[in-house]
Amino acid sequence: MKFGTAFLAIWASLAIASGLMYVFASPKTRREFWMPMQIIAALALVTAAILINESTALIGFSVFAALVIMLNAVTIRICAQCGLSNRNTFFFPVPKFCNRCGHSLEQAGKTHS
Ligand SMILES: [Zn+2]
Repeated sequence: MKFGTAFLAIWASLAIASGLMYVFASPKTRREFWMPMQIIAALALVTAAILINESTALIGFSVFAALVIMLNAVTIRICAQCGLSNRNTFFFPVPKFCNRCGHSLEQAGKTHS
C-alpha cells in the first residue's frame, strides 16, 4: 500500500467517524471522544508512514501532520451544552467558554456520573 492511500484512508475514516458522531452522538459524547479520536488519527498516520517507509520526507510530513492534529486536539474544545467546536483564531489561548451559548469549556476529560 502506498503512503498516499494510507493517508487518504485514515483521513476518510476520521471524516466518516466525525460525521457519524455529528449526526448520532450527543454533544457530551462528542466532547468525550474528540481528544482520543484525534490522538488515534495522529498515531495511525505516523505508524502508517513508518510501516510503509517510502521515504524520509513522507515520514517527516506525517509527523508534521500528526503534530497539527495533536494541536487541534488540545486547542479545540467542544461545548458539552450545544456541541459547538470552539477554537481561537490563533490556537492559543484555548477558549474557556462556548462562543455560542457561553457554557464553560473547562473540565476536559472529566466524566460525570
Ligand atoms: Zn455551547
